[in-house]
Amino acid sequence: MNRSVKVYAGIETGGSKWKCAVGTGPEDVRAETAIPTTTPAETIGRVVDFISNKGPVHAVGIGAFGPLDADPASPTWGFVTTTPKPGWAHTDVGQEIRRRLGVPVAFDTDVNAAALGEHRWGAAQGLDTFLYVTIGTGIGGGGMAGGKLLHGLVHPELGHLRVPHDLAADPFPGMCPYHGDCLEGLASGRALEARWGRPAHELDEAEVWELEARYLALGFVAAICVLSPQRIVVGGGVTQEPRLLPFVRDKVRRLLNGYVDNAAVTDGNSTYITAPALGSRSGVLGAIALAETA
Ligand code: ZN
Repeated sequence: MNRSVKVYAGIETGGSKWKCAVGTGPEDVRAETAIPTTTPAETIGRVVDFISNKGPVHAVGIGAFGPLDADPASPTWGFVTTTPKPGWAHTDVGQEIRRRLGVPVAFDTDVNAAALGEHRWGAAQGLDTFLYVTIGTGIGGGGMAGGKLLHGLVHPELGHLRVPHDLAADPFPGMCPYHGDCLEGLASGRALEARWGRPAHELDEAEVWELEARYLALGFVAAICVLSPQRIVVGGGVTQEPRLLPFVRDKVRRLLNGYVDNAAVTDGNSTYITAPALGSRSGVLGAIALAETA
């Protein structure tokens, strides 16, 4: 082992588990684990123990579920804020881990971390304006504009876009606790299971995936019109369905209807909307890339 190489820890916090990796990148992961999400004290304690047992790390990157405070000037930097997840609202994650490990910590959304991972090592290499969207239990989006991770008032909340909802065609009311039928309320894995009575991986009917693709395409078209991303990288468990991305590409092309005159969105064979090259590890590996910025 080259001891002059700086080793980092990446943490991706999720609703059911926290993924941790220690290393320098996809080709050099020296330790990796997944820890179940329980209480904040227990979960953070186990993550800190895992990292501190792997020898010194130079810095830690955390890609966290949100909403969260990623403003370095804020007294509540590093906090998860208004999450509906029981026991986790207004919880200090970043400052606690920084204090207990005694190293610099970079803190951002899970989807911004995944975007950074795909930019560094995956499907967004060489791009400076793109989106990373996850369609899993929930829906989230992060990315870059002009080479910088997207922040602003807080951070993007792509999952909570309002999309047209034809109640006659789809009477499901949606299930976002804040908005009902926002994109996440209609098209997340949780929404699929509630609407159809079975989890996404058991749903085979074409109408399921046509409707799912329609909502995602409506959301992506809004994002394309606002940000003009050079690519949309789409991960998350729901995208395991092989028909989904081809359906989404086709519907995005139809909805834009030639107005955005670029082969990326007018060519039916384009992979403008694409799966992450790092698979399900974009977030935790991206957190290692994030650590380098701490
Ligand atoms: Zn919502």
